Amino acid sequence: MDTVTASSANADFGIDSILAATHARHLPNVTGAVADYIPELAVADPDHFGIAIATVNGKLHTAGDADHPFTIQSVAKAFIYCLALELVGRDAVMARVGVEPSGDPFNAIEFDPHSNRPFNPMVNAGAITVDGIIHGVAGSDAFELIIDRLSQAAGRRLTMDEAVYRSESETGHRNRAIGHLLRNVGALDGPVDEIVDLYFRQCAIRVTATDLARMGATLAHIGENPVTGQQVFELDAVRNTLAVMFTCGTYDFSGTWAYDVGVPAKSGVGGGICGVVNRLLGIGTFSPRLDVKGNSVRGVASFIDLANELGLHVFDCSNAGSTFVRSLVR
Ligand code: GLU
Repeated sequence: MDTVTASSANADFGIDSILAATHARHLPNVTGAVADYIPELAVADPDHFGIAIATVNGKLHTAGDADHPFTIQSVAKAFIYCLALELVGRDAVMARVGVEPSGDPFNAIEFDPHSNRPFNPMVNAGAITVDGIIHGVAGSDAFELIIDRLSQAAGRRLTMDEAVYRSESETGHRNRAIGHLLRNVGALDGPVDEIVDLYFRQCAIRVTATDLARMGATLAHIGENPVTGQQVFELDAVRNTLAVMFTCGTYDFSGTWAYDVGVPAKSGVGGGICGVVNRLLGIGTFSPRLDVKGNSVRGVASFIDLANELGLHVFDCSNAGSTFVRSLVR
């Protein structure tokens, strides 16, 4: 298949053609494996593949299974971090969880040896700590607060997948262990079981690639949902969230991601990836087969192509995307 370049895209193709070509190019790639350590995730149809781009002026472009539901899993970590920053402020969050890439897998039982804090909010230990902060503010209303805010970012009411929640709750002993260790080092001071339960629930929120694109566009639009016009997140919290997505958002692949894709993003073991092209676009991909680091194989490949073809890398000659992309959001 011919490679579509940004310049030829300018001349001959619209964004829909570029998305369709990216989708067609990677559809035959069946490498990787569906996550099976949460039993209910193992029943996902591995063949689904969707890509969506949402612009900051409210337009949506999709290819493939962009409206097929799956569980958000770790993609939620970025959004709950943003929420916690707003609820208690940067300093109180930083006192509990750092912003250093750990280079460890998502479920590592490792804390910063100097501070005893989890390395960053994008690994499980950090996200459970962030849930402890939100639980400290909202108590038993914490899940409602989280799903409301994620729904506002997506621009529609999201729901939780009960089966995936129950499946993780029944098997999530490692995350419970992380919760108790966090309590032991003082990163958590609330009821561990309730906080880990909150974490399991938020991981089981159902989204589509379109939702992830819209949620990314809300971050790209400095916290305002471009479709509803609602200010969902605070400006400073968005900046800090994008920074940590950029450095830590794709597990122990984050350095290569920054090098090859160059946009803030967060991936999840449900097969979703949410990327943010600041001030321009949100990108959502969904394909459940994961590589050894836990990132969606087709999702990573699609992001690399889109970044190259649309000039999205933050360190490309313009840090505001290509002329072509800017033309989309006029
Ligand atoms: N619920 C999953 C876990 O904690 C989320 C992992 C992920 O998506 O990285 O194991």
